[in-house]
Amino acid sequence: MPEMAKTKAAWPAEASARRRPPVPAESVDADRVLAFVNTLSGRPTSAPVERLDSYDALVTWAREQHLVSAAAAERLAGEAKKHPHQAAAVLARARNFREALNGLAAAIDAGRQPGADVLETIGECLAAAYANGRLVPHEGALQWVASAEDDLERVLWEVGRAAGRLVISPRLARVRACAASDCGWWFVDDTKNHSRRWCDMTLCGNREKLRRFRARK
Ligand SMILES: [Zn+2]
Repeated sequence: MPEMAKTKAAWPAEASARRRPPVPAESVDADRVLAFVNTLSGRPTSAPVERLDSYDALVTWAREQHLVSAAAAERLAGEAKKHPHQAAAVLARARNFREALNGLAAAIDAGRQPGADVLETIGECLAAAYANGRLVPHEGALQWVASAEDDLERVLWEVGRAAGRLVISPRLARVRACAASDCGWWFVDDTKNHSRRWCDMTLCGNREKLRRFRARK
């Protein structure tokens, strides 16, 4: 029977046999979670800009981040039309979760321990994300997926799972705020000497340098 054993596919498959993600999963989690926190722009200014101004905006954002498929996004938007009050409640919870994550990022950037209220809110969202999921085999490995694909809360669970992985990873310690006075976006500083200052050099870096140059004149 050794011939049969040879033809039987190994499971779990070796990583090299699987379709590898183009970037480490940890980076993807951090990018998504910080992109979620960054849906409120211009935090240091008197007029921050809210991107998550409707449930549909939340779903559109999740679609852009590849947290849900185009088909799922359409179904979720349809569900939201049928249950507007529930959708509004989910949106409020999403913003609450986002602000707790913002509190965590601010604490890390300032080098202090996050508050108990921040950790409690994040913990509740993580618990919901795992309570509403199940394990499935996927491309030779296991994957944790949402148990109800069309539940209005699903977007929260998807962000929650990514946040759950990020908050216990060493990358969390590298979260920094953009140094531009009007930005307030978060990024992960992956530079060796921890010297990155801008969310985006071409946008915030150059703009801030120009502003400082003008101020000196
Ligand atoms: Zn910036």
